[in-house]
Amino acid sequence: MKWTNYHSHTKFSDGKGEPELYIQSAIEKGMYAYGFSCHSPLPFESGWNMKFENLRNYLLEIKRLKEKYLGSIKLYLSLELDYVKDWIGLDQYKKYNLDYTIGAVHFLGFFENGHVWDFDRSAKWFKKGLEELFDNDIKKLVAFYFQQVTDMAETLRPDLIAHFDLIKKYNANQAFFDQSDDWYKEIVFEALEKISKTSSILEVNTRGVLKKLDNEFYPANFILGRCKELNIPLCLSADTHNPNDVMAYLPEARTLLQKIGYKEVYILDEKGWGPTPIF
Ligand SMILES: [Zn+2]
Ligand SMILES: [Zn+2]
Repeated sequence: MKWTNYHSHTKFSDGKGEPELYIQSAIEKGMYAYGFSCHSPLPFESGWNMKFENLRNYLLEIKRLKEKYLGSIKLYLSLELDYVKDWIGLDQYKKYNLDYTIGAVHFLGFFENGHVWDFDRSAKWFKKGLEELFDNDIKKLVAFYFQQVTDMAETLRPDLIAHFDLIKKYNANQAFFDQSDDWYKEIVFEALEKISKTSSILEVNTRGVLKKLDNEFYPANFILGRCKELNIPLCLSADTHNPNDVMAYLPEARTLLQKIGYKEVYILDEKGWGPTPIF
């Protein structure tokens, strides 16, 4: 099995430690390829995105490390690009010559005081946005979230789609909605249908399990089953924020995909994105 993880955050955004520590950890664990994807800078304050003034150093540092570790591990440079309706497009990132792109939706609106709503900050913050921006109507919020993910896939055309159902982050014990409800499945499956017509790869993101927020990954098991039916390509992502976690729960994610019937996941190497067998 060629172990890879293309989703990771270092001290340049909200991760811990120098990028080099992640590389050393990945080499120690015998990984095939590794990618850096710090949160892209934004034209408003979020508290966890990279600052514009750090972007150049980030790009230079990862390029330097790619050279230094040539022959030891394949390294790739990216950013986790935030899709914010009417604000952010892919074009503005073209000049950075990224090796690949990850598209993500974390922001679903602005409060009256101008503060942005990053719905995945905390359960309390999630509830506040739900009440103040979505009339406490969880169906309205869920529909809007998946609409943004679909718009992101269709307009940004990222190589990878991050944590597809992140909207369930604080939904342990069905705190906000029941994932087995027909309305939820309808919204999710419609988004998947649209995504299956793009060339984006969906990541199986293990971070929620690592953080003990949920016992299923992003996307949830029933969604992965539907991905198989729609032949949506998948890759394994640890969404790493700490050098020790470069491979966190990736073996478990592989086992789950085998059970669902997947025989391969997608990886990036010098041949570009392509399937590799999982065994
Ligand atoms: Zn993210
Ligand atoms: Zn991330």
